[in-house]
Amino acid sequence: MNTQYILDLIYLIGSVTFVIGLKMLSHPDTARRGNLIACFGMTLAILGTIFIHDDEVKPIIYTLILVAIGIGTVAGWMTAKKVQMTKMPELVSIFNGMGGACAALISLIEFQHMSLEKTENSNQLFDLSKLAELFGNIGKHAEMNPTAKMSMIMAGLVIGSVSFAGSIIAWAKLNGTLNKPIRLPKYNILNTVIMIGLFVYAFCIVNGNAEGGMHVYLLFAASLIYGVLFVLPIGGADMPVVISLLNSFTGLAAACGGFMYGNKAMLTGGILVGSAGTLLTLVMCKAMNRPLYSVIFGAFGGGAAAAGGRELTGSIKEISPSDAAVLMNYSKKVIIVPGYGLAVAQAQHIIHELELILEERGVEVKYAIHPVAGRMPGHMNVLLAEANVSYDKLSEMEEINPEFATTDVVLVVGANDVVNPAAHNDPASPIFGMPILDVENAKNIIVNKRSMNAGYAGIENELFYNPKNSMLFGDAKAALSKLVAELKGM
Ligand code: NDP
Repeated sequence: MNTQYILDLIYLIGSVTFVIGLKMLSHPDTARRGNLIACFGMTLAILGTIFIHDDEVKPIIYTLILVAIGIGTVAGWMTAKKVQMTKMPELVSIFNGMGGACAALISLIEFQHMSLEKTENSNQLFDLSKLAELFGNIGKHAEMNPTAKMSMIMAGLVIGSVSFAGSIIAWAKLNGTLNKPIRLPKYNILNTVIMIGLFVYAFCIVNGNAEGGMHVYLLFAASLIYGVLFVLPIGGADMPVVISLLNSFTGLAAACGGFMYGNKAMLTGGILVGSAGTLLTLVMCKAMNRPLYSVIFGAFGGGAAAAGGRELTGSIKEISPSDAAVLMNYSKKVIIVPGYGLAVAQAQHIIHELELILEERGVEVKYAIHPVAGRMPGHMNVLLAEANVSYDKLSEMEEINPEFATTDVVLVVGANDVVNPAAHNDPASPIFGMPILDVENAKNIIVNKRSMNAGYAGIENELFYNPKNSMLFGDAKAALSKLVAELKGM
């Protein structure tokens, strides 16, 4: 059989497994299997690309590729195995950045490839032609119009570089290295000008108005700078939108590579990541009540917001585990609001135990899930699924908000920004306009956290000063264990 048919069949199988895998990722029960199915398809597509073709490939190339795959696999495997659940979003950011970097590097190499095709004697300032020559047979270009090919190269370079640089800044923001938004004067005008400049410059290179390798490296550098400037000013609670947007950028950049090489699996994979990331971005924008254009053309959460909103005064009330246990034991309905602190404390198992005990006592228990609770989309769902909390017990924000008014006790565990009423009441707050869980409508509120420290957005929470609210201070695992012990003793 013709090798091209075999390869097409492999790419078809790969593409189908990506679609099936993605579909299965949408539910915790099937997510793990979905991931494995997509992994199988990806492995098949990679092996097919490397080994199935008519061209002769030098053994050194195979050695280089297998060594690179080996190093990447071991590093990726070990990092993913060791990473703590709370560090997962940072890891996802880095992995996403690596995808963007790959797409940008492919574009640089392929630019040299094209230059090599044009002129035998390359006299470019930065000459990667030797490398391009070395990789000549694997990753052969699809039969393509040169302008279309050059457009794909430029798109992959710009989008991939922005995604790489932006993801590195997102990583630094998520792990706390960069904990304050940095805004240059008139940053949104500056960013918009650079973005337009990138398009124009790329267009000129494609059009042949800016010839020579130096222009491509300048475009590469400018794209990296734009990636940094794009994410640096994002503040408040708005990082989730940017992270999913960067994700979709990486998918688009990979799809450009797929076009360039005529590799259907790469194309489908890239398009799936790009479109899934775009849809997630739109969902996140809706969840945060932010228009998409404000993400792209100017960071939000700025101005007075950066200062952290208004100062709060008043007194806070504390509650002991035994009083909290009494209150919950004699309630009809309890809603639990999990947040980032639940993940930090790894208190998902004890919270499930609390839920089961309350239900044994005839209390109706539900979990209220805010779309950006935690540090990655679906963080709370994954965490609670790990403790075997039934999926039917989890309610989304729109569904649960009307129920707070008829709830006896809301137990907020390690959540802060997602229950901060400043989103409704304080126009100067960085989270103003973001939909929140309306826990203040419940009859009693208990908030468990370790101190009065702020959440991710760095702002105070007026909920803590609400007369209906009591603070149950302590690490979530320790505090909930005491609460469960008190309930068992009743
Ligand atoms: P927050 O980050 O607002 O608050 C978490 C709270 O948990 C803190 O105030 C902290 O207070 C408390 N906490 C930390 N460790 C513990 C512990 N061991 N035990 C008990 N409490 C603890 O979390 P939310 O989930 O409410 O909101 C998520 C925020 O993260 C939003 O601003 C969101 O935009 C942002 N974000 C979300 C992403 C996503 O994709 N979901 C991605 C990036 C950012 P204390 O120190 O006093 O204990």
